[in-house]
Amino acid sequence: MIAKRYEPFWKTTALEQMSPVEWESICDGCGKCCLQKLQDDETDAIYYTNLSCQQLNITSCQCKVYETRHAKVASCITLTPDQIEAFQWLPDTCSYRVLHETKDLPDWHPLVVGSDKEMLRQGLTVRHYAVDERNVDEDEWETHIIKWVHGMPEPYDLT
Ligand code: SF4
Ligand code: SF4
Repeated sequence: MIAKRYEPFWKTTALEQMSPVEWESICDGCGKCCLQKLQDDETDAIYYTNLSCQQLNITSCQCKVYETRHAKVASCITLTPDQIEAFQWLPDTCSYRVLHETKDLPDWHPLVVGSDKEMLRQGLTVRHYAVDERNVDEDEWETHIIKWVHGMPEPYDLT
């Protein structure tokens, strides 16, 4: 008798069909989508900065006001299954984006590893470089623009 191979839910269930608990568990907790973004008025291009929303706990990469975040931060966006096609602005290591594009999770994902130890070891959360937005004058935000290189931030000079 041949034993049936176990396939984890993210390989067998489309993002749109996941239960709320499954959907939430796809978030790897990197905190990258909680970094402030700047948009070019002329081209609509979106640029990430290394400045975190003031409601992000930078050490844990958790939102401090998750249940009431939309009341506290008007620009906070909730990722939902029916919007995933439009979320190209997410960092290319965002696990929702990776799963949508490759049909699998990265090998460092907490669901694959069983904990966040591998993503922490690889420095894939913003805890290593995020700066609280309140510490930088808005006039200076452009100097904090970054580009993602293999999931890591590198300075990006707009000029
Ligand atoms: S970028 Fe994606 S995986 Fe990372 S915290 Fe945001 S939604 Fe979760
Ligand atoms: S309110 Fe919370 S979830 Fe929303 S951007 Fe800020 S830290 Fe992230």
